[in-house]
Amino acid sequence: MSAPKYTRILLKLSGEALMGEQGSGIDPQTIKRLAHEINDLCRIGVQVGLVIGGGNIIRGSEKASEGLDRVTGDYMGMLATVLNALAMQDALEKLGQPVRVMSALKINQVCEDYIRRRAVRHLEKGRVVVFAAGTGNPFFTTDSAASLRAIEINAELLIKATKVEGVYSADPLKDPKARFYSRLTYDEALDQRLNVMDATALVLCRDHNMPLRVMNVFEPGAVMRVVLGEDIGSLIET
Ligand code: UDP
Repeated sequence: MSAPKYTRILLKLSGEALMGEQGSGIDPQTIKRLAHEINDLCRIGVQVGLVIGGGNIIRGSEKASEGLDRVTGDYMGMLATVLNALAMQDALEKLGQPVRVMSALKINQVCEDYIRRRAVRHLEKGRVVVFAAGTGNPFFTTDSAASLRAIEINAELLIKATKVEGVYSADPLKDPKARFYSRLTYDEALDQRLNVMDATALVLCRDHNMPLRVMNVFEPGAVMRVVLGEDIGSLIET
């Protein structure tokens, strides 16, 4: 196998990526398959940071629309990301892959606190680091957390895993005329309000020159192909 193009990446998986065919929660087969893919990256020497969303369990904004206090809902959402992170830790460890979960909220009987320098050390030692609890602040998303952590750990690439091939002008599952973008700038994504990541996350990446690849995580082996340098999905740059 050829040498990887990147030595350190940050992979963002939405909570929904763990659901499989289920309507919510974590599907054991799906998380196992994703863990295998991540383990394969580590085996060729790629340092992998992971941010997993919580949308398969709770989204603060949805809870707020049902009447729950928004900040409380957001803390519930952040805790949901910890549940997903622990499940991924378990799935990776079952494959013999060393992992550390680091949380932006202090829950240190369950996982480590997020300390940037320690996270980098874990990565250098070949451990997957799962960054849990988002940014630790309400009103943010795990896309913002992924951008922030990618910049903090000096990742060479942020990968956002989605259900479709990349960035489109409209939802391709609903609109057959949706245009696919293989390359675009952050300003184009922001100006055209394309469904890539929220504006906070996009601006952070734009201002810190963090390249982002949006790609389909449900295609087996696709993340490996990107890491080996293949041009699949959509590449967004400053
Ligand atoms: N959340 C938050 N601050 C953060 C990250 C997440 O308050 O920094 C909360 C927010 O309520 C969000 C939920 O956690 O809806 C789950 O995260 P997200 O919606 O980003 O998950 P995904 O859509 O990626 O599964």
